[in-house]
Amino acid sequence: MTILPIVIAPDARLKVRCKPVATVDDSVRAKLDAMLATMYDAPGIGLAAPQVADDRRLVVIDVAREGAPPTPLRLVNPEVLWASSEKVVMSEGCLSLPDVYYDVKRPERIRAAFLDEAGARHEIDADGLLARCIQHEIDHLDGVLFIDHISMLKRNMALSKMRKLKAAEANRRPSRP
Ligand SMILES: [Zn+2]
Repeated sequence: MTILPIVIAPDARLKVRCKPVATVDDSVRAKLDAMLATMYDAPGIGLAAPQVADDRRLVVIDVAREGAPPTPLRLVNPEVLWASSEKVVMSEGCLSLPDVYYDVKRPERIRAAFLDEAGARHEIDADGLLARCIQHEIDHLDGVLFIDHISMLKRNMALSKMRKLKAAEANRRPSRP
């Protein structure tokens, strides 16, 4: 299974408003499968298309506990239909910001709509970690990172950490092919 390279922030590709998918075809299904493989490999509990340099509205999620059977979700054109006025604080991380964790306040419960890998429309009510993850991933489709929800000071600290990480990786690469 293809493991896709993950785009690390800051990167213009993470700031794009992604395009709705018109038809759920084989190319969409193949991308969702590759995104799931990439997410499990990382490992992570959610991944959005811009994190693998794709500008379509695609998300994969699996919030099953470690050791429990996998519960992969493939979401095409996901949207939040309703969000509770009650908000909760949870620590968040992101595969595009390795080793960066901050508390983020978001609605506790949501109702979301999406198309599955066969193109059928679903609505789900979610709370806890799943609600958190869906909101985080839909944000990605609108070019929003979780650090956009925290103070500018913390955001700048996170981005400067990422720039150092990228510089260190660039230095490690051999200068000749
Ligand atoms: Zn993320």
